[in-house]
Amino acid sequence: MDGAMFDKLKILSDGAKYDVSCASSGVDRTNVGRVGNACAAGICHSWTADGRCISLLKVLFTNRCVYDCKYCVNRRSADAPRASFEPGELAELVMGFYRRNYIEGLFLSSAVETSPDDTAERICGCLALLRGEHGFAGYIHAKVIPGVSPEILARIGFLADRLSVNIELPSRESLGLLAPQKRAKDIFGSMGQIAQALAEQGELRGPRPAGAPRLPGANVAAGDGSLGDMARGHNAISPARPRGRREAFAPGGQSTQMIIGASPESDRQIIATSETLYRTFRLKRVYFSAYIPVSDAPELPERASRPQLGREHRLYQADWLLRFYGFAADEILDEANPYLDPFLDPKAGWALRNMDRFPIEVNKAPLEELLRIPGVGNVSAMRIARQRRFAAVRYEDLKKMGVVLKRARFFLTCSGRYYGGKTLDPVYIRGQALSPADIRDGMIERAPEQLSMFGDSRSRIPIGTAQGGGHGLSLR
Ligand code: SF4
Repeated sequence: MDGAMFDKLKILSDGAKYDVSCASSGVDRTNVGRVGNACAAGICHSWTADGRCISLLKVLFTNRCVYDCKYCVNRRSADAPRASFEPGELAELVMGFYRRNYIEGLFLSSAVETSPDDTAERICGCLALLRGEHGFAGYIHAKVIPGVSPEILARIGFLADRLSVNIELPSRESLGLLAPQKRAKDIFGSMGQIAQALAEQGELRGPRPAGAPRLPGANVAAGDGSLGDMARGHNAISPARPRGRREAFAPGGQSTQMIIGASPESDRQIIATSETLYRTFRLKRVYFSAYIPVSDAPELPERASRPQLGREHRLYQADWLLRFYGFAADEILDEANPYLDPFLDPKAGWALRNMDRFPIEVNKAPLEELLRIPGVGNVSAMRIARQRRFAAVRYEDLKKMGVVLKRARFFLTCSGRYYGGKTLDPVYIRGQALSPADIRDGMIERAPEQLSMFGDSRSRIPIGTAQGGGHGLSLR
């Protein structure tokens, strides 16, 4: 790679590091005298549905932006070195990295160089070269620029494995304040088009969640100003499958990213917005990204403030409850409790507010009740349900089944016996259930080192991955 291309790659991979819609841990594997050096290429990791870790080149197509989103390092008014790829240039680069075994795929995002359509057309050209001329069959995650014309979006959808449209901020008010050139209706219009295309080609499997609209916005009352109401007005088109192509439209589905801590929304609002996005657009994932101060704009937290990584971690746990444990957003937090407890995971927090539902008898409760017990996960709940068909589950069996007893023992009984002490008082249980790890998690504030690809940063596990939800890109 020549020096000019290396500089371009450095600028454009550095500009992509703030997007967490795929795993974003930096790689510090250095060249030890063999071929290749993962440090200098903006490479991140993602996980497939079967748990396999794959390396992606994570890069912007351009960081020249006509928009001026106040929270963004690539905003028009920022004093930053600028660069853009040509479609053929980036396609060659991806293939070169792929042949050298540096990467297995591409995560391609972009600023808006002139207009959404112009930039998206160039991105589409690059992806078409990769898939067509180069025969690249590896994984491609493409960001969709809100407001792009449905026809171009449809073409990109047939070239990419996963699409994402970033919602960026949890409310229309904050979007208007911090990203005035972005319109919520464009964001939801693009999300709606993708959701409809996926629904029509039958890629959305499994039953719809209770209350979920059949198609984006379909069941939302007109004029309520809600996210769904805005989604309803979009002109979704069914993508025309390119002649002769057998590929599916974005088989990995769609995801989005929300910035946390740049605007004043509570955790409750953030979780409610996530739930609406899952239901309305059938997203695979909502990613949370703690805001990293890059601007002196008075509307934003000051530069000296630290990213709210502990809060991001709790939001990922709450998101896990929404997706896999049957919780509704208004169960996780309510008007009286608009923020997640920094010292306790959201399921334990919910349980302590609902002690009248506990203790739960593990040998009798239905599976959905077992899943409500803090310390009991999906796998352990299934194991309990399986074993008790043959013999009663004993307290000493629970640990072997994966139950975290230091927490669960306060919320369950085993054949009628309670192991949590003499009282069901939530204040007492909270004190007993807190561990040094909970205290540490509640106080986590780390410098965002995982975001630097070219500095002397060290690889960091994104905090979200610590609890299994994290930034891992699920292709389920
Ligand atoms: S559109 Fe906004 S968020 Fe995207 S690159 Fe431009 S300034 Fe940044």
